[in-house]
Amino acid sequence: MCDKPTPGETPGTADSGVKAETRYRGTRRIRSVVKIVSRRSLCAHDIADFGRPGATVSMSDSRQFWSSRAGIVEDVNQNSTAAGGVAALDDERRYQAAVSKDARFDGVFFIAVTSTGIYCRPSCPAITPKRANMRFYRSAAAAQEAGFRACKRCRPDASPGSPEWNIRADVVGRAMRLIADGVVDRDGVEGLARRLGYEQRQVRRLVTAELGAGPLAIARAQRAQTARILTETTALPLSEIAFAAGFASIRQFNATIREVFAVTPTELRDARGRVQKTRRLLPPPSGAAAPGLIRIRLAYRAPIDGERMLGYLGARAIPGVEEVLAGRYRRTIMLPNGPGILSLAPAAGYVDCELQLEDLRDLTAAVQRCRRLLDLDADPEAVTGYLSSDPVLGPLALANPGRRSPGHVDGNELALRAVLGQQVSVAAARRLGACLVATYGKPLSRPDGPLTHCFPEAGTLAAADPATLPMPRGRALALTGLAGALASGELSLDPGAERDRAEAVLLALPGIGPWTASYIRMRALSDPDAFLPSDVGVLDALARLGAVPAGTGPSARARAAKAAAALAENWRPWRSYAVHHLWAYLEEKDR
Ligand SMILES: [Zn+2]
Repeated sequence: MCDKPTPGETPGTADSGVKAETRYRGTRRIRSVVKIVSRRSLCAHDIADFGRPGATVSMSDSRQFWSSRAGIVEDVNQNSTAAGGVAALDDERRYQAAVSKDARFDGVFFIAVTSTGIYCRPSCPAITPKRANMRFYRSAAAAQEAGFRACKRCRPDASPGSPEWNIRADVVGRAMRLIADGVVDRDGVEGLARRLGYEQRQVRRLVTAELGAGPLAIARAQRAQTARILTETTALPLSEIAFAAGFASIRQFNATIREVFAVTPTELRDARGRVQKTRRLLPPPSGAAAPGLIRIRLAYRAPIDGERMLGYLGARAIPGVEEVLAGRYRRTIMLPNGPGILSLAPAAGYVDCELQLEDLRDLTAAVQRCRRLLDLDADPEAVTGYLSSDPVLGPLALANPGRRSPGHVDGNELALRAVLGQQVSVAAARRLGACLVATYGKPLSRPDGPLTHCFPEAGTLAAADPATLPMPRGRALALTGLAGALASGELSLDPGAERDRAEAVLLALPGIGPWTASYIRMRALSDPDAFLPSDVGVLDALARLGAVPAGTGPSARARAAKAAAALAENWRPWRSYAVHHLWAYLEEKDR
């Protein structure tokens, strides 16, 4: 990050020019627009119906559907149970998704079959849908609570997450992001509620109303999945796995595994040889003797542009903390119970993920953070389908349907790096970052090649003397001020952070302007709809596309930024993807 010029990302007129209110006058709409996802879903099925007997949708209807973007601002707040995009599907659409074995819906809902007592992902090859026997659930936990067992063939609990939870800004979306990060395992429902600023019973009620299961049941389903990963991919004793997965006792572990998978933990382990040959598992890492080393596959909804993702991360990699080498991104990470090293390589159909963890209890959080970093829960078809009809972005979106909006593994680190990147080149920001890491970073007890340190913690930088930092005084004060706000808890950038509130707190800090705040919102908070109208790269790309006036002076830039912001209104709710399309366009042009 330390993001800047190469392909844009400079604060240009940035933190002085365009006012925040013009850019975020529509924040209320961010909640409202998530329904576009469901629109796209319906559209996909409508199109799939062409040529079938009885199909009533004509091609021109479909085209009109795309170009008119019907219903994008439907106010989902009025109907909280329907609030989530794809989740707003009715049972008929779910049934259609099951019949067509549409993998895009994996993780969005689950199908339980009453005649077998098994639940599956929509794309399960084993399901022969008999409508009368099917039940639909919004979460694996709800299917489990209704007494169904996970299908051994399609492994429904290993589906990608629902894209809905990254899109939604409301309390259920925030809760789901925190549960996925392991907050309930670490701090209970009480800790979850505290972070959300709600009463426990309110959180339970809201989550149960939408997911069909409460936070505890959802966390339990997640623990069962973590336990299975550890059982199948490590040689750890089962007793250690129970605690690493977050279970409070061996008894609870045994009972849950039996209930969820219909086998005992020992049987699960005995089956792993066969499973590794036939299933979605990678062989154990080479030199598997290393304790705490886990290798898994991360699922995503195709397509994905892994090459550009690695290029983007590699251009910003800070020596000592991260590197990109031979198609693999590696970095250090500080997790709730200790440090770790992650290694990610996009492959055909999955991302190969190796995790070296000091404390295995961090597995759930580590996996989730990798997913956020690579934007693996996204629904690229929905994004591309929407942007494809735009006169400016359409060609870019259609040429690059797997474009993602990279998030980050650590919101605090991303924010601090955003300040380091203000007004300097990407290369200069990397050097600055390396310098800070060497002075203030936490050395790993077991360094791994060039990976030697974790990025400095906010508390450490907050205590640093601004005069000693290798940057202009104003930026040094911005950095220590931001670090102080993060360390004191005044500002939270965890997965459950309230995006509007975080942005308001950021903008009130010295040296943090709209560009920096929006950039943090886009990457630290994984907001799919953040925009950077004053970014030099965005403006250059738009000028080359003939979409905004070119010009270099401050007033010309301000005019262009205003035009860009107006244009971007058409790209809601996917403006973050629009930014990446524009940056990538410049990268290609300048190559
Ligand atoms: Zn299945």
